[in-house]
Amino acid sequence: MSVPVTQQPPERYRIERRRFLKAASGFACMFLSGGLFHNAFAADPFPLPPLPYPEDALEPVISAQTLRIHYGRHQQGYLHKLNGLVVGKPYAEMALDKIILTTAGKPDLRLYFNNAAQAWNHDFYWKSLSPEGGGTPPEILKRKMKKAFGSVDACKKELVRAAISQFGSGWAWLVSDGDTLRVMNTSNAETPLTRGLKPLVTIDIWEHAYYLDYQNRRANYVEAVLEKRINWEFAMKNLNRR
Ligand code: MN
Repeated sequence: MSVPVTQQPPERYRIERRRFLKAASGFACMFLSGGLFHNAFAADPFPLPPLPYPEDALEPVISAQTLRIHYGRHQQGYLHKLNGLVVGKPYAEMALDKIILTTAGKPDLRLYFNNAAQAWNHDFYWKSLSPEGGGTPPEILKRKMKKAFGSVDACKKELVRAAISQFGSGWAWLVSDGDTLRVMNTSNAETPLTRGLKPLVTIDIWEHAYYLDYQNRRANYVEAVLEKRINWEFAMKNLNRR
């Protein structure tokens, strides 16, 4: 007696299966056509990038609470708005820096610029920090700092000065400008990318970055970051990037 290797399922089962597949594909079409659950099923073009370290890794310079809210609400908020804005637009296919350069200085595209630039700036900020940060910069960077500012300390003082002289929200940056280094601040979502400069590290000086930990003492926050958390290795990596 031979036993068949494959066996057709009974007729009743096949009909049930067909009905199930039809119903399932109906639901799938409903979701994919942008129905109520669109966002839950379609992948966002700009997901929240992972943090390079756990949320308590920067304590005590930046508390886990500050980091959790900053990353999970502020950065997530900019990405959420951007994902909503780009639906059905060519921006959905662009990299963040391309959106930034395409929309910069155009008042009617301000919302795209602000949310894309804030998304880019925050990702760059987390990478500019490290639990093992601070200390002495790598030799090549140190030499460039000495040439541009006189010393590493003078460069750090420039960064603190840039941070406290920024009126309102913004960012303090160390950038590479041709073959020299520069310290600058930008307002709100503005970024050195639109001025043809190469950012090396940034410090977020919006109040949400430090208020829970330092209240109004912005200088103390920036000094602590520069002493203990600034990621000079990341700055070096950016300096070497073509
Ligand atoms: Mn921020």
